[in-house]
Formats: sequence, C-alpha cells, structure tokens
Amino acid sequence: MLVSAKDMLQKAKAGKYAVGQFNINNLEWTKAILLTAQELKSPVILGVSEGAGKYMTGYKTVVGMVNGMMEELNITVPVALHLDHGSYEGCLKCIEAGFSSIMFDGSHYPIEENVAKTTELVKIVSEKGMSLEAEVGSIGGEEDGVIGKGECADPNECKAIADLGVTMLAAGIGNIHGKYPDNWEGLSFETLDAVQQLTGDMPLVLHGGTGIPADMIKKAISLGVAKINVNTECQLAFAEATRKYIEEGKDQQGKGFDPRKLLAPGFEAIKATVKEKMELFGSIGKAE
Ligand SMILES: [Zn+2]
Repeated sequence: MLVSAKDMLQKAKAGKYAVGQFNINNLEWTKAILLTAQELKSPVILGVSEGAGKYMTGYKTVVGMVNGMMEELNITVPVALHLDHGSYEGCLKCIEAGFSSIMFDGSHYPIEENVAKTTELVKIVSEKGMSLEAEVGSIGGEEDGVIGKGECADPNECKAIADLGVTMLAAGIGNIHGKYPDNWEGLSFETLDAVQQLTGDMPLVLHGGTGIPADMIKKAISLGVAKINVNTECQLAFAEATRKYIEEGKDQQGKGFDPRKLLAPGFEAIKATVKEKMELFGSIGKAE
C-alpha cells in the first residue's frame, strides 16, 4: 500500500540520511525502482511530473500500475507516489486519483499567492493523511537559460512556508535541473544552513540531483536534506544502455527485437543507477 512520505522523511532527517525520489516514465522505470528498493530494503519515493503523468495517459493509470505492481511484486518497503512540480490543478487531480504525496510548485507565484495556495493544499492533504512538498526559490534548469548559478531561496520565505504545515520543503540552494554546466558554482551551503536554522526539523529537499558531486550531496544531507530528487541520471543511463544494445546489432540477432529483450539493458541500467544513489544517500537497510 502506498504511504505518505512524512514518516520516512522525518526518520531520514533524524537519522542523517536521505530518501531518493526517482521519477518514473513507464513500466520499466517503475519496476526497476521498486525492485531495487525492495532488494536493498530502502524506503523510496516515485516521482511523477505532470508531463510524465500525461505520457502515461493520466494519473489514474499511474496509480493503477503502481498499486498493481506493488502487490504482484510483494513490495513491502515504504513507497510514496508523489507528484513532482505540480500545478494547483495538478495537485487536486492527483489527490483524486490516489497519489499518496504531492508537490505544489508555487515558486513562480508572488510569495503571498504561494502562501495562500499552499495553505489550502495543507488543509486538504492533512485530512487525507498525504504529504505535501512546497518550493521556495525557483529551481531552474540549463534549458531555462540558467547559467553558472541556480537561484537561492530567501530563508525567511522558507520559514513562512514551512510554518504553514507542509511536510517537506524544497529550497533553491544554487541547484538546477538537468545536467550542470561546466561553470556551475556549486551548492550554497550558506543558504542551506540558514534555511535549516529557521525551519528546524523540517525535512529539506534537494532537486536536480544529477551531477552534484558526492561530497556535496553528503554535506547537504548533514545540513538537513532528507529527500533528493533523481531524474535525468536514470534517463541518461537508460539511453546509454539502449544505444549500446542497438549499436552492437543485438536487436537484429535472433529475437533481439522483442521489446522485453530490447529494453532489458536499459532496465538494468536504471536499477544500477538507483542502487548507486541509495548507497550515496544512506537509505539502504532503513526500511527494515
Ligand atoms: Zn525539481
């Protein structure tokens, strides 16, 4: 059964490790992440962007697939199904469809409007026992023209949003989505430290986990990050393994064109990436 991310993240924050959010795109992705979490006895968060939700034909399909797979694969570790960067309307749809967690990305609204909408969602999700992630300080991406440095959140705005009763808080600390440019200046630990000082026990979320050096990840965890989002890295691993299979002509040998064979190397590559991240984040064995 899907669970809220609240317990797993509070335990992670107290135990100084982080739970990975791995975004899903289809059956192979979901199966690879769930099996790896179960094998390694790690709690896990499945992230679904609005685009990926649409790609999979809608949130109800996603909920049906994940619930069915958890039952058929006997997944017993805590799993949260989480909307990633949701709009207000998207959040309502996911609540209706049976997600166990949502992120409301109100970072592009003026702070007053972010507060108002977050307040409404806090009320709805707490009635349903779901978890809610809020974002302060927009987390951009290279595709958005962000070069060198991601935005840093205002720690006082972080406190204002945290005090509304959200479960976890994503604060921009110089991180960005996608691959990091060569001239990236690194994470702002000064901002992270200031945010944690003001928000106390609140589990903090690090977006854009792809390509952040391991020592920076570890330092971020020591400063209160309890959830780390991984998306691009699984995509790159999947693409590389699939390209290799095709380039070696394996799809043209025997029944190599069978999608269950063609997609297998990519599936294994996602599993390996998830394992590597869980090791780095320290979440292995935490679901026992
Ligand atoms: Zn993000």
